[in-house]
Amino acid sequence: MNTTASSTAEGGTAASLIPSLFPPRKPMTAEQIAAGVEAALTVQRRAVTFGKRPFAAVLVGPDNETVLLTHQSVDQVNHAESSLARLAYQHYSKDFLWTCTLFSTWEPCGMCTATIYWAHIGRIVFAGSNDQLYELTGPGNKENFTMEWHTRDFLKGCPQKDVEVIGPLETEGKVVMKESDNYWSTTRSVRK
Ligand SMILES: [Zn+2]
Repeated sequence: MNTTASSTAEGGTAASLIPSLFPPRKPMTAEQIAAGVEAALTVQRRAVTFGKRPFAAVLVGPDNETVLLTHQSVDQVNHAESSLARLAYQHYSKDFLWTCTLFSTWEPCGMCTATIYWAHIGRIVFAGSNDQLYELTGPGNKENFTMEWHTRDFLKGCPQKDVEVIGPLETEGKVVMKESDNYWSTTRSVRK
């Protein structure tokens, strides 16, 4: 693959070769970020009442405000973000999804980040980081053997397309941590 010249163009190689699939993304305001995380947190709160783990994601449209789809964590291999990305890809076109944002209460794992990439969703916003999640789950938590890898690790240096990543978020992350710990504190192997 030739990664010189065109790969340095804004948006990446694919964007320069097929611009119709990479319409401009509207920049996101701090208020829109806070609202999107709150929408995901609402889904997460409901998920926990149904005995699910505290993870949730929402897909927000090109206006950065309209919630199009939501998904909670189903189980350990059907995560909120990858499940939502697959659903999004069934519902909408690539060029549309490039202008959408997937909000997640927690940093998407490798499986989810890759699925978001393949679904062609143009932006990821997450509140809590994997490091913060590990603080809550602790080692040897049978409900979540938290990964050390980060969302940006999987997208770093990708010459084809520049999925935008926003997070972790300091203020929203604290709220997500506090609420999620109500669940994780009951499942930790090592008590704090
Ligand atoms: Zn995941």
